[in-house]
Amino acid sequence: MIDRLCIIGVGLIGGSLALALRRAGMVNEIVGSSRRSEHLHRAVELGVIDRFDLDAARAADGADVIVLGVPLGAMRTVCGQIKGALTEQTVLTDVGSSKASVVDAVHSALGMLPAGFVPAHPIAGTEKSGVEAAFAELFDGRRVVLTPLQSSSAQAIRSVHDMWSATGAIVEQTGVGHHDQVLAATSHLPHMLAFALVDSLARMGDHDEIFRFAAGGFRDFTRIASSDPVMWRDICVANRDALLDMMARFQEDFTVISDAIERGDGEALLKIFNRAKQARDRLKIG
Ligand code: NAP
Repeated sequence: MIDRLCIIGVGLIGGSLALALRRAGMVNEIVGSSRRSEHLHRAVELGVIDRFDLDAARAADGADVIVLGVPLGAMRTVCGQIKGALTEQTVLTDVGSSKASVVDAVHSALGMLPAGFVPAHPIAGTEKSGVEAAFAELFDGRRVVLTPLQSSSAQAIRSVHDMWSATGAIVEQTGVGHHDQVLAATSHLPHMLAFALVDSLARMGDHDEIFRFAAGGFRDFTRIASSDPVMWRDICVANRDALLDMMARFQEDFTVISDAIERGDGEALLKIFNRAKQARDRLKIG
């Protein structure tokens, strides 16, 4: 049970976490903070938070658990703002989509890594953003990855684990570097492909005609190109090395396909497509 939870950045993820914890009866009071009071008023109206303070330090004051729910590029600033509100007992965590950058941000804002700090990443989301898009079921049956540090206390790890378990998520742990490599492959690269494809087609002269004929496959593949551009700019910058590795690897494999098409090598194409189909069919993700 969390007595007072503070969420800095009450958007899709921070707001959904608040709603999921309320549904579980896991929290007494939720205090929010962000830059715009109209967003926070709306969060109160929607029953996501109980009250708010535009001053992050005041919002965080007296909180047992503080969650950083802001875009990756804002983590350092926000962490510096709440520095004075942290005590030895405070549990500090985040929801950022890459982890090494958040660890660096916390370290540079605080000058150290507090024992209460446990980085975390819910592998759940939608292409929508803002508190209006938040819903309590977002984390049901989805994975949340904790990347505890050597500095993280066992008690703080347990608190963050229990908080996410209460949302209906399956909680796992891994290392920061491993997290960032795996997410570059399974999330960050696919978003780059979707953004690149839609942008490329949209800049063609007859793009209205092209999109008029777009069917289910195009819709499924490109849904994530509607994701928040600021968030994705921040993810690219934050997870640059791992993402560039994956993009280079993908570019090589893509060239193998285009070379086979150029040669008219149906056998080579069949081999690749069969291998991909078998791999995709084995996945239990619908
Ligand atoms: P979002 O819906 O846009 O919410 C971001 C929140 O942060 C908003 O409440 C915004 O409110 C606030 N904010 C932005 N800049 C701020 C600043 N400088 N200081 C204080 N508050 C600030 O974004 P989201 O999708 O929830 O993503 C939030 C975090 O979750 C990101 O780190 C992202 O990497 C991670 N994440 C996202 C997904 C996803 O699918 N969306 C999934 C997993 C993890 P104001 O405009 O009022 O400041």
